[in-house]
Amino acid sequence: MRDKFLSFSLPLVGAEEIDEVIAALKSGWLTAGPRTRQFEQEFRDAFHCPAALALNSCTAGLHVALKVLNIGPGDEVITTPMTFAASVNVIEHVGARPVLVDVEPDTLNLQPDAVAAAITPATRAIIAVHYAGHPVELNSLRSIAEEYRLELIEDAAHAVGARFEGTPIGSGTNFTAFSFYATKNLTTGEGGMLTGSQELLDRARIVSLHGMNREAWSRYAAGGKWAYDIVEPGFKYNMTDLQAALGLQQLRRFDRMQARRREIVARYNEAFSRHAAFLTPSSRSHVENAWHLYVLRLRAGELTIDRNQFIDEMTARNIGTSVHFIPIHMHSYYRDRYGYHPDDFPVAHTAFRSMLSLPLSPSMSDQDVADVIEAVLDIREKHGRRRMAA
Ligand SMILES: *Cc1c(COP(=O)(O)O)cnc(C)c1O
Repeated sequence: MRDKFLSFSLPLVGAEEIDEVIAALKSGWLTAGPRTRQFEQEFRDAFHCPAALALNSCTAGLHVALKVLNIGPGDEVITTPMTFAASVNVIEHVGARPVLVDVEPDTLNLQPDAVAAAITPATRAIIAVHYAGHPVELNSLRSIAEEYRLELIEDAAHAVGARFEGTPIGSGTNFTAFSFYATKNLTTGEGGMLTGSQELLDRARIVSLHGMNREAWSRYAAGGKWAYDIVEPGFKYNMTDLQAALGLQQLRRFDRMQARRREIVARYNEAFSRHAAFLTPSSRSHVENAWHLYVLRLRAGELTIDRNQFIDEMTARNIGTSVHFIPIHMHSYYRDRYGYHPDDFPVAHTAFRSMLSLPLSPSMSDQDVADVIEAVLDIREKHGRRRMAA
């Protein structure tokens, strides 16, 4: 057993990131400025986005998207219960009503048929989450959105680098929000990127910075003019050049980091898929999974312990794990406000009860990976249900 605790998701930050942040500090420009603009351009080019806007979080991106699309009181937004609260909280922030629908049993992504069935005259938008980095069925959701004249917003917090039918997530003209939170595939500590058409992004830029028609960089840089106008009461959601400095260097190592994630996933799959006790994550053939998470599911009846006890056993072996996610409808606010019962979304609920996320980060050594595998298999060995010989 390892004697040092293995963190669930340790970011990979190297000398290049550190040097770039120091250079940003020495440059005299700390808030959104040249590095932020450069990060937007490089991100846009890397993932073929029509346009990109760097923000202080993915949550900010989703909030701004709803604001720009003028979604508010009286409107309904269809989304998934199998997500982080931020995806749904933003719907409450603009005064609209979140409408949850159940997920697909394999990918745990929104089920397109369930989305179509939930549409009412009040429906204005769909927020689709690319769960764990596996893209949603974009073609189906796009045609539903087109047929019913709905906005499609992608929560791509897990999906930097993912592709659907060969096309990068974020390359569409609809709003797509990425996260650079500390645990995400590409990190700026805190941060996010909103992508979409230039027209949508021009409006989002104003909403994300006080509703001001000109940002600081164009006012305080050489040749800048002092005057500005507030065209609406916007938010304060910009990224800073310190974050962008991190992001620029993370982008340079991104392909290598993703390759390492795929290697770790392959090792886990190899070790676990042969055991009846485990359901390993799968990827559909027409997508490229960004592998943000490795979600292992415990098969009912195969172990004498439940998921919570399994996590305790992992902790006892010095392996950090997590659960993604406690479904939205089980949180007290949503449960009480909308009268949800855990079984209202049986696929999400059942998956939740059986899942744990194993450590997955390009910062993991081969020994770390071997330690995780050893711990999982040891727990299975000790707590597997013994079958009688036939
Ligand atoms: C992390 C996460 C977010 C929030 O990202 P922030 O950058 O922290 O705002 C939103 N949605 C999902 C699915 C996430 O995992």
